[in-house]
Amino acid sequence: MMGDPMRRKLKVATTSLAGCFGCHMSFLDIDERLFDLLQHVEFDRTPLTDVKQVGPCDVGLVEGGVCNAENVHVLREFRRNCKMLVAIGACAINGGLPAQRNHLDLAACLQEVYATEPSLAGGAIPNDPELPLLLNKVYPCHEVVKIDYHLPGCPPSADTIWQTLVALLGNKPLDLPYELVKYD
Ligand code: SF4
Repeated sequence: MMGDPMRRKLKVATTSLAGCFGCHMSFLDIDERLFDLLQHVEFDRTPLTDVKQVGPCDVGLVEGGVCNAENVHVLREFRRNCKMLVAIGACAINGGLPAQRNHLDLAACLQEVYATEPSLAGGAIPNDPELPLLLNKVYPCHEVVKIDYHLPGCPPSADTIWQTLVALLGNKPLDLPYELVKYD
């Protein structure tokens, strides 16, 4: 996949911020190519390893937009540690579905979800101090940190993710064919 078998294993981290894990599912859809990938790559923080802290990495893949304080912290940690940071999917690129709340008042939104409508929270808006503080709106990743590459799609296809990894981990320019990034 990426040339010289004697090269050190490259490090890849992935995270899901305000997303649905559909982009991670698409990543797993590279299927048997995962075996090839694992010959060349070691996973750092990712839901696949359950590692909680990101360390120095060659590539970071970020799914989801930024909706709360924890998302900001994780995204900044990824930026600090990853040489290349890739925003994967519509949520990471423009907020996607979670950003539908952006045109609503946040307090009214919480009231409607937890108090007006029947909810498991018994009519109370959750306020445990352990819960990450919600932001006033859902932000795309590039409004919080510098993003090196954007992969459009909801989710981007497995082939798109695969070709991206092959290029970046092979230290080649990312030049995806039109068929992999068009959604018309
Ligand atoms: S882009 Fe689509 S598949 Fe990916 S996290 Fe957002 S909603 Fe899910």
